[in-house]
Amino acid sequence: MSETFTLVNPATGRGFREVRRASLDEVDATIARAVVVQRAWAGVAPVARADALRRFARVVEEHVEELAQLEVLNSGHPIESARWEASHVAQVLNFYAGAPERLSGQQIPVSGGLDVTFHEPYGVVGIIVPWNFPMTIASWGFAPALAAGNAVVLKPAELTPLTAIRLGELAVEAGLPEGLFAVVTGSGSLVGQRFVSHPNVRKVVFTGSTEVGIDVAAGCARGLKPVTLELGGKSANIVFDDANLELAAAAAPGAVFDNAGQDCCARSRILVQRSVYDRFLELLEPAVAAWRVGDPALESTQMGPLISASHRDTVAGFLEGAHIAFRGSAPEGDGFWMPPAVVLAGRDDRIARDEVFGPVVAVLPFDDEADGIRLANDTIYGLAGSIWTENLGRAVRVSRAVKSGVLSVNSHASVRYWTPFGGMKASGLGRELGPDAAEHFTETKNVFFATDPS
Ligand code: NAP
Ligand code: MG
Repeated sequence: MSETFTLVNPATGRGFREVRRASLDEVDATIARAVVVQRAWAGVAPVARADALRRFARVVEEHVEELAQLEVLNSGHPIESARWEASHVAQVLNFYAGAPERLSGQQIPVSGGLDVTFHEPYGVVGIIVPWNFPMTIASWGFAPALAAGNAVVLKPAELTPLTAIRLGELAVEAGLPEGLFAVVTGSGSLVGQRFVSHPNVRKVVFTGSTEVGIDVAAGCARGLKPVTLELGGKSANIVFDDANLELAAAAAPGAVFDNAGQDCCARSRILVQRSVYDRFLELLEPAVAAWRVGDPALESTQMGPLISASHRDTVAGFLEGAHIAFRGSAPEGDGFWMPPAVVLAGRDDRIARDEVFGPVVAVLPFDDEADGIRLANDTIYGLAGSIWTENLGRAVRVSRAVKSGVLSVNSHASVRYWTPFGGMKASGLGRELGPDAAEHFTETKNVFFATDPS
């Protein structure tokens, strides 16, 4: 493996920077340093740890534009989305800055003394991040982990390391101890695997493909270390005949084509009750035609290019032999462009079952509520989903019956940092975000103090 990796601007297809790949010795040295720095960090008063994270949040806020521009260049995200992502990182830090003083244990009644529990940090936490949302996904791990008193070693995807590298620098500018939040660039097979195998990395958070996630979990099992997995999805957007069809059709493109469909929560299956199937497609076509694909630097752009040439080839492979109902538009020329596609699919078609991770949506009809639920659950995945209906009872029944971690009714919202996020089945293990995330980066210690030693 060469010592550097070339970053390519997805909107132009041109390489623009070389990034160093860390060697095994460098990864080990970073972990060794994190072990030392963490001991001091865990001893810092809760209020001072909270203050340090608030300072980090403020410095990120001051650099939202710079971080956003880096994401446009490195990942091809539309500038407005990238600004949202950078602001989100600051908000996540602010939210978990409230955790250090709130990580209370319990006092449990016992005779002959006092029994209390403590939420102890693991030590060093390893976080492995994919290329689709480089800074937001990183923050979901590092903010609560740091708040709970851990050190963090973070590996961005090789394709998209720039915002993570910058966040690592901003942490130091904000006054966090050097080495407490260390960003290590390099390959998954070397850096990521070292987080898994190194005995001093005591918890791993992995976001990425189900295939690699299983491998990471197996490695963590050998080291008896806990692992959080956020994996793939094939989420259903279920449209019932009693839905507001105009709203459901208008919202559907954004729910799957946002970030060019490279979103683990993408509603990449639209399940439509048969009685309104034709009408829904009629309404969907102009909504897809109006979806603005283009230069990510423009504020009017809703969707940029795909991440790489090889990923575009993979996505295009799914369209071979598929029944494409209609497509949106995309720029010509260099860059990894692909117009969105709406495919009419059968239940056993590959495009209805496998995660595409691109701007492709499969539309399938269903008969009644029971059939809709069956179809929604007919997948190995269980990350997200949406239910469109004006019937309250149905909304409650269906949202309880669909096996997914994150559902929304008459909405496609999936991610709010103060609500839990994560998948069932092959979509993952454990939850991120929400009120309890900092506690997930601790292990409980129980201590009994005898009042009458015997
Ligand atoms: P990936 O290949 O699984 O890679 C994810 C991360 O793991 C990258 O940083 C990668 O490093 C690293 N990695 C690769 N092989 C590894 C190994 N053997 N051991 C340790 N780390 C390793 O996934 P991707 O191609 O980047 O992302 C697309 C996938 O991620 C999709 O399936 C998508 O659904 C899923 N995803 C899920 C969520 C979620 O929250 N549920 C969010 C985003 C993405 P390098 O690539 O740099 O070598
Ligand atoms: Mg990969």
